[in-house]
Amino acid sequence: MDISMRAQKLEPSVTLAASAKANALKAQGQNVLSLTVGEPDFTTPKNIQQAAIQAIESGKASYYTPSAGIKELRQAVATYIKSNYQLDYQVENVIVTDGAKFALYLLFQAVLNPLDEVIIPVPYWVSYGEQVKLAEGVPVFVSCAQEQEFKVTVAQLEEARTEKTKILILNSPSNPTGMIYSEKELRAIGEWAVLHDILIVSDDIYGKLVYNGAVFTPIATLSEAIQKQTIIINGVSKSYAMTGWRIGYAVGDKAIIATMNDIASQSTSNPTAVSQYAAIEALSGEQDTVETMRQAFEERLNKVYPMFAALPGFKIEKPHGAFYLFPNIKETMDLCGYTDVTDWVDDLLAEAHVALVTGAGFGAPENVRISYATDLDTLEEAVARIAAFIEAKS
Ligand code: PLP
Repeated sequence: MDISMRAQKLEPSVTLAASAKANALKAQGQNVLSLTVGEPDFTTPKNIQQAAIQAIESGKASYYTPSAGIKELRQAVATYIKSNYQLDYQVENVIVTDGAKFALYLLFQAVLNPLDEVIIPVPYWVSYGEQVKLAEGVPVFVSCAQEQEFKVTVAQLEEARTEKTKILILNSPSNPTGMIYSEKELRAIGEWAVLHDILIVSDDIYGKLVYNGAVFTPIATLSEAIQKQTIIINGVSKSYAMTGWRIGYAVGDKAIIATMNDIASQSTSNPTAVSQYAAIEALSGEQDTVETMRQAFEERLNKVYPMFAALPGFKIEKPHGAFYLFPNIKETMDLCGYTDVTDWVDDLLAEAHVALVTGAGFGAPENVRISYATDLDTLEEAVARIAAFIEAKS
């Protein structure tokens, strides 16, 4: 039986593939240091675990829920957005999904017609382009140099815009670069999108993870017109250490949300009930643990950034958010005699047992992504092994 043409064009996630490779080596008994996955190494805070246990024991987690999520959680999302963004939304503006990843998937399915174009600044999170293709849209990649902090400008957007442009995806703080757009930059981009009636998809999933005084500005807050033009994507995975629970959400125009709900009702039926009860506690319960985890990431960033930046040939902008370093390693590859970043990453894993993710999957073939969402000892040991690997190859 032939595989569909649509599926044949799909690139599997490079981040998941890299962590699977690292795990396979680990299973063979190798001491592998994996800096691949984009998830906090903390366990879900106790109050959230308790809410889940209670939902199971009371029996209320036993059943299907409405496909857009239980009303209490949709309301909790609206209240959370009100207190964090000072924006008013009703329950009908909110859909709860199986992770933010599925919110994005539903959104593209809901709004894209074949050949509609979606502008995606490069480097980008691995799933954007593939999800757009699955919805028969066309990803339009706009390269943003490291010298411009990997951020797209209005001039570049204008150059990329055509009659077919329907969506612009923004991700600030960014995975993989950790860069954050300023209010001024976002205002210019927002006004451009309003002027040309382009839907802004604002992936705010790392909004709580900003460091050293950096400020996260949600683009939707910049004017009423920009708010109307924006769909907010967010979730509990990163800020509440809940990647395994699979709860994300989208907030915006009621008609788009209702369409996403129709698609969800015919695909997943609903996000897992127990996770929804846990997410209510995450968003509405005490928030101290969010700050504790943020501080831990900040401390690690400040400790490990200089160490990675000192590796021969590693050129890194210091990130302001998320939990990744994204060095350009062109000079390192030259030193080691490599021309392909994926080969360098593969050999680093095979020989030094350090797993990183190739930048190729993020549209940046001279970079690697290093997740520092792991303990300091592992990070320090990884730096030492990478240094020894480079030394041996030079
Ligand atoms: N958006 C970005 C930029 C991400 O890095 C991720 C996860 O890696 C997601 C969305 C999806 O998060 P989840 O589906 O776990 O909510």
